[in-house]
Amino acid sequence: GGDDASKDLDALLEEVAEIARPKASEGELADYIPELREEDPDSFGLAVVDLDGTEHVVGDVDRPFAIQSVSKVFSLVLAMQKADAADGVRKELWGRVGVEPSGDPFNSLVQLEHEKGIPRNPMINAGALVVDDVLLDHCTDHHEEMQALVSELAGEEVTVDERIASSEEGTSGRNRAMAYLMQSFGNLHHPVDDVIKAYAHQCAVKMTARQLARASRFLANDGVDPATGRQILRPPLARRVNALMLTCGTYDAAGEFAFDVGIPCKSGVAGAIMGVVPDRYGVTVWSPPLDQAGNSRAGKAALHELTDRLDLSVF
Ligand code: GLU
Repeated sequence: GGDDASKDLDALLEEVAEIARPKASEGELADYIPELREEDPDSFGLAVVDLDGTEHVVGDVDRPFAIQSVSKVFSLVLAMQKADAADGVRKELWGRVGVEPSGDPFNSLVQLEHEKGIPRNPMINAGALVVDDVLLDHCTDHHEEMQALVSELAGEEVTVDERIASSEEGTSGRNRAMAYLMQSFGNLHHPVDDVIKAYAHQCAVKMTARQLARASRFLANDGVDPATGRQILRPPLARRVNALMLTCGTYDAAGEFAFDVGIPCKSGVAGAIMGVVPDRYGVTVWSPPLDQAGNSRAGKAALHELTDRLDLSVF
């Protein structure tokens, strides 16, 4: 019966954690801001949340971390909501940011120069900056709307770490360079400072693995948040977010993730990887040490084990 299956999954998560955890020693903490450099490299949390609300967890699933690049999913969702409500916004959004994997690091300037200031996709920094620029036109308050969306999806109030937000702003030279380059091509309409502030703020949203796993469930459920029944995105749009996560969500290693993990994922530099198992689960793993591509080393190992053992690959 359901209870047995539920117990089996709990036991399986323990095994997955045991295999994945030691891999963290092969990774390195992000070190561009002190708050990330000071993370405990041994932290590890894995949360699998069923569409019916059952939460299967192991490890540090209630310890908050900065969601960093995982926020790019939520800012995109917000922009797609605006775009779905107005034809003009839809054309604007997809005219200003592409949907192809980049094959270059997340903060690369090279393609921007070649492609006239149009970022390859919304999951890399340049793309997320354009998405924020669009949002600044269509949100009454970017910070508030972002926070309201993630809090709603997490099922509880989430906060922003202001220290991290200001560290991010203080180390944003490269992001600013991208923003100015895009501005020079006419693809950034707001002052660079405003766009950088919005982006730094969303990177500094703090969530737990459990909350992020809850928050990704609507993407596994045709755009409907199973906790509230609210349609966050129409089904075809939710699928497009999944497609972008799968093809562009794990930095330069999206091919490897498709191959080894096989579900849409988005990772962040603080060591989170949020995944979507269509029709079944929201998943998140958190372990701060990163591999060469910038994905959580133990996190990737955990998702590989989990999806293999449970046959969760979308392929
Ligand atoms: N704040 C980081 C940056 O923009 C986020 C990067 C990430 O998580 O990939 O450089």
